[in-house]
Amino acid sequence: MRYNLIRKMDISNGPGVRVSIFMQGCHFHCKDCFNKETWDFNGGKEFTDETIGKVLQLCEKNEVKGLSILGGEPMHPSNIEGTTKLAKEFKEKYPKKNIWVWSGFKYEELKDKEVLNYIDVLVDGIYKDELHDPTLKWRGSSNQRVIDIKKTLENNELNLLK
Ligand code: SF4
Repeated sequence: MRYNLIRKMDISNGPGVRVSIFMQGCHFHCKDCFNKETWDFNGGKEFTDETIGKVLQLCEKNEVKGLSILGGEPMHPSNIEGTTKLAKEFKEKYPKKNIWVWSGFKYEELKDKEVLNYIDVLVDGIYKDELHDPTLKWRGSSNQRVIDIKKTLENNELNLLK
């Protein structure tokens, strides 16, 4: 698998100061996608154990509140294994910091995946240009949902962040 970009200090994708990684490859091809350079599964750079090590090291700083995983499509079958490994190792090392993931897949399609055990918030669903709303927080269109995964799994009931 491959990734596009790592941001060392990101204040626009999730709460507080964060490290972000944009995975490479997305098959959804949403109209007016904000990140078309991540579509090509052969683009970007190779995602390796060293990449995970680098991300974990960047997350060490006290001011970094969490890790954001975006795309591209982090949950695509070509990418989910690496996303899971990164999320698992992050949570083992930083149990008090949070992980937010953006995916074009819906929660219902992902709910049996191991990766959900390690993430705190999932912003789900493809971007729909006709439902674009600039006032929304953390998402681009109103069909997308910001889901508290910990509470959702705990109560077995969809729990949305306001
Ligand atoms: S799912 Fe995200 S990265 Fe993929 S095409 Fe849609 S907006 Fe772009």
